[in-house]
Amino acid sequence: MNTRLDKMQCCLCGQGSLSTLHREDFVELQEGYVAARMNTFAYLLCTNCGLVQVEPVPSPEALARYYRDAPVAGLDHEILRTVKDRYYQTTIDFLTRLPAFRPKRIFEVGAASGYLLHRLSGVFQAQAAGIEPSEESRRWARNEFGIELLPGMIEELDLKAHQFMATFDLVVCCSVLEHIAWPLTFMQKAGEMLRDGGYIYIEVPSLRHPQERELTEKVVQPFHLCYYTPASIALLGAKAGLACLHVEEVLALEVPIYRALYRKQSPATYAGEMFKEHVQWFEERLSPIIEECRRHITCAGNVWIWGIGDDFSKLWSQSPETFPPAKCRLVDRNPAKIGKHIGELRISPPDKDTCGIPDVILIAPNSHLVQKNIFQDAQKHFSETPIYILFRGAQSDATQ
Ligand SMILES: [Zn+2]
Repeated sequence: MNTRLDKMQCCLCGQGSLSTLHREDFVELQEGYVAARMNTFAYLLCTNCGLVQVEPVPSPEALARYYRDAPVAGLDHEILRTVKDRYYQTTIDFLTRLPAFRPKRIFEVGAASGYLLHRLSGVFQAQAAGIEPSEESRRWARNEFGIELLPGMIEELDLKAHQFMATFDLVVCCSVLEHIAWPLTFMQKAGEMLRDGGYIYIEVPSLRHPQERELTEKVVQPFHLCYYTPASIALLGAKAGLACLHVEEVLALEVPIYRALYRKQSPATYAGEMFKEHVQWFEERLSPIIEECRRHITCAGNVWIWGIGDDFSKLWSQSPETFPPAKCRLVDRNPAKIGKHIGELRISPPDKDTCGIPDVILIAPNSHLVQKNIFQDAQKHFSETPIYILFRGAQSDATQ
C-alpha cells in the first residue's frame, strides 16, 4: 500500500475535483515482517457527484483475502439474533410495503450468514441464491437455513456459466457497496443478473452524523472504499442503466444508512407506466360518478349540472355520451363562463326563463365550500327539485 494520495479522478462520474474530507495515519502490520510501519489513507470527496472514495485503494487480492479470512464477515451470525434481527426488520418492512412487489427469484450479494436472504425468501415465497466470500458464514447459512451460497466475490462470478443472466427479480446488496472500489462496474454486473423490470435494493452507511458537524464513523479502514450521497446513489443507477426509484436516509439505526431501490427499466418506460397507472386510477375514481349521472339523466327530461369547471370537464371528457344536450343544461353564476361551450353543451346562468325548471340538479365541483354555496343557492330557488352532490368522497378546496 503506498502513501501517496494521488487519485485524480472520481471513479463514478470521472469529473470534478477531489477534496480531502478526512485523512488519517495508521500503523500498518506487514505480512512476514516484525516491524510495523506508518501509512496514510484519506477519504476524498468528489465535488461533482458527491461520492466519497478512499485513497489508496487496496489491491483486489488484498480485498479478496480480507473478505475470505477476516473475522468481520464471519461475525454476522454471532450478533444475528440481537442487532441484525432488528436492523433487517426495517429492510423487510420496507420491501414488503412496496405495492405489487412480489419477487420470485432473489439474489443477495455479500449474503453473510444468509439471515436476510432466509427471511426474504420466506416472506415472498421466493427462491434464494447468493454469494459470500467467508467460508464460515457460508457454513452457517447452509446449516442454519439450508441456503447454499456461492463462494468468492461477485466481480469473479461467471454469470453465463451459472445461468444468472437476466434471471432475478430482486438483487439485494446490504452493506456491500461501501466495500466496492469500482461501484459502477459492480452495479452493471448486478443489473445483468436482473430480468427486465427487476429491482436492485441497496443499503449503504451514511456519513452524516445525527448530531451533525462530525462524520458518523471512523470506519474500519481501509475497507470502506466509498461513501454515497443521494446524488451519487442516483447517478450510480443512471450510469448502470437503472432507474433510481427511491433514496432515503434512515437515521434511526445504530449506524445511519441510505437505502435505495433501482429498477431495470428506462426512465421513459417507467414514467410511461406511472402515467398509465395514474390515468387508470383517475378513471376508476370517476366511473361511479359518471354512473350516477347516467342514472339521474336517464330518468329526467331537464337535468341541470351546476358549477362548471375542471371537475365537470373531467367527467365529460371521459364520457361525453352520458350528457346528451337534449336533456342536460350546464349552469353557472360566473359571468366569465357564461356562453362558453363544452362539446355542444353551452354554459348558461341558472335561470328558469332560459333553462326551464330542472327535474334534478347535479352539483359538479369537487370543492366542499363551492358545493355548499351552490347547494344553498339551488335550494333557495328550486326547493322542490332533488339536488345531488356528485363528488362526495375526499373533498378538496383546492380546485374551482
Ligand atoms: Zn464524481
